[in-house]
Amino acid sequence: MNIIDAHLHFFPESLKFDQSAKQAGDQATIESLTAAMEKNKIVLGIGMGTTPTAGILQNPLILPFVKESWPSFFAQCLGVNADTITNINKRDVLSAFENKIKEPTTVGIKIYAGYQHFYVSDPVYHPFYELAEHYDVPVVIHTGDTANSQGLLKYSHPLTIDEVAVNFPRTTFVMAHYGNPWIVDATEVIKKNPNVYADLSGLAEGNFSVGWFFKNYHAYADMLVGWLTYLSRYDKLMYGSDWPLVNMGTYIELIKRIIPQEHHEAVFFKNAKRIFKKINVLPILNK
Ligand SMILES: [Zn+2]
Repeated sequence: MNIIDAHLHFFPESLKFDQSAKQAGDQATIESLTAAMEKNKIVLGIGMGTTPTAGILQNPLILPFVKESWPSFFAQCLGVNADTITNINKRDVLSAFENKIKEPTTVGIKIYAGYQHFYVSDPVYHPFYELAEHYDVPVVIHTGDTANSQGLLKYSHPLTIDEVAVNFPRTTFVMAHYGNPWIVDATEVIKKNPNVYADLSGLAEGNFSVGWFFKNYHAYADMLVGWLTYLSRYDKLMYGSDWPLVNMGTYIELIKRIIPQEHHEAVFFKNAKRIFKKINVLPILNK
């Protein structure tokens, strides 16, 4: 089965990225990523525009490749660096997003809720939701736990997406990491709002055997299965890994155990093509 990984990262020359990759039994290099994708039949990865590093004013946040060396298996979501937006530069920032969103490899917008200390309903984000609607691309929102202790969880709680889903009914929202660990709240927000979807990335990290995981985390795994069954909207879920935080092969096996077999084709491939519409024109999906 061919797979689309709807949520992963690539930022080289970062110590944290290197350490995460090592813990997942991998290396944070493009060669290693390419090999892992080929081995696991991942035909396309949707990369999240790099998390802001202190002091960098870049906006939009993008993957670190230029057009000429763009890996054919990558599409990207433009990261909104809300910390750097001011009344003076906001028009310029928005037009930089608009220019970049027209590129075929740009397939969505990413909001780093929790890492950036704004509610997703903050007016700073409204023009980006409108832009996403206009270009018919989804807005991926980080939800749940943050990878560092400087994050603020009140901003990344999945319930916060309810308000923007209602106020921007023609914008498509993707709740990253299924709100983990607020699985119940995430379920309700996805169930209630027709324009809210989720990716299943970041539900586990590192490298482990799936048997070990189900033995040691059986209550967590049962809770996931239970609430995904309660939702019963396998058309709204997408496979994603959050690589390099987790071993790709192991994570695919884990999600295959959590999602009923009859929905694998949808969750691992087809739903991403419906939600991230722009990926359908990429050469890699038309071979
Ligand atoms: Zn991520």
